[in-house]
Amino acid sequence: MNIVAPRMDRIKPSPTNAASSRAKELKAEGRDIVGLSSGEPDFDTPLNIKEAAKKAIDAGDTKYTHLNGTPELRKAVCDKFKRENNLDYTPDEVIVSTGGKQVLFNALLASVAPGDEVVIPAPYWVSYPDMVLLAEGEPVFVTCPQNNSFKMRAEDLDAAIGPKTKWLILNSPCNPTGAAYTEAELREIADVLLKHPHVWVMTDDIYEHLTYDGFKFKTLVEVEPKLKDRALVINGMSKAYAMTGWRIGFAGGPKALISQMSKLQSQSTSATCTISQAAAVEGLNGPKDFIQSNNEAFKRRRDLVVKALNACPGLHCHTPEGAFYVYPSCAGCIGKTSQGGKKIATDEDFVVALLEEEGVAVVHGAAFGLSPHFRISYATADSVLEDAMVRIRRFCDGLK
Ligand code: PLP
Repeated sequence: MNIVAPRMDRIKPSPTNAASSRAKELKAEGRDIVGLSSGEPDFDTPLNIKEAAKKAIDAGDTKYTHLNGTPELRKAVCDKFKRENNLDYTPDEVIVSTGGKQVLFNALLASVAPGDEVVIPAPYWVSYPDMVLLAEGEPVFVTCPQNNSFKMRAEDLDAAIGPKTKWLILNSPCNPTGAAYTEAELREIADVLLKHPHVWVMTDDIYEHLTYDGFKFKTLVEVEPKLKDRALVINGMSKAYAMTGWRIGFAGGPKALISQMSKLQSQSTSATCTISQAAAVEGLNGPKDFIQSNNEAFKRRRDLVVKALNACPGLHCHTPEGAFYVYPSCAGCIGKTSQGGKKIATDEDFVVALLEEEGVAVVHGAAFGLSPHFRISYATADSVLEDAMVRIRRFCDGLK
């Protein structure tokens, strides 16, 4: 008897989780592995945030909360949207969930009907297409190649939109490329959306604070407020606040959508952890100077990695505006054979051989919908990155 439901055939396990797990396994077996596959900052959660969590435990703040998040946290989220994005949301227009991941999951499951199309610029965060497929929707990919800085052109968005289009998912700064849209680029995207009033837009702004070289982040609805009544603005504590394990994500959007996401949450996880919610209040309302100093480290690491990769034969790496990823092309390595005798026909062959022969764990581009590339997360110590770059250089030098 088959225990597995047919819907499970529509999706696959997260390839980034799988790559990180494989690296951990090899490490546990005693192999000397450099892990550059995990999408989380190496920095610790700031002390004031941890103290707020401890206080919550001691105060007995350990019971179920309002489904959509405590009143304090939803107020802090509304204040954040106003202060940082110039967006007005009331507490009943925001929801807090178990990570940005659950926000996206709830939103797609609550809104996508069988056959609805969701436009996703590629390369994309690995979970978007599978969440759409689970909701019985159809992902429609718009290719955003390196020679366009991995950004979607307005005309390509226009061409991808049809009568069945329900959503556009826009992620800036982007996982896996680090590409971030300027205000002028967002203006062009907004103009296309204004032409198609049946299309909603989800902006995944989780890397909002991680931009470099003076790049000014804007979210789409701030650039075009007319989109607000068909937009879900998603954010969370994981990346800028170094709080991946605390599992806090949130969103602002029209009440009609938020209430359906809440209904779904009421039948699955209920509200997220009270202690994490108390910590998030402190994070959102408290001092932010650590973001600046973390970003200085991220920028230095980005520059180190881009320079080293561009010195490797067969690789070409674009300098991204934000997040903590680079997405080099390995086109120049395809068709070659590694020192260990592995024929490199795809980016997956490249990353498998790199892991086996040099112990460097990265994620192949096919997982993100654009090949031949691979993703490096540079959210790790400079010395680890330097070691990884030596190994990648040796691997590329050895390709024949
Ligand atoms: N969106 C993007 C683009 C991400 O990269 C991630 C995490 O990797 C998430 C959302 C979800 O993050 P979390 O569930 O930790 O808030």
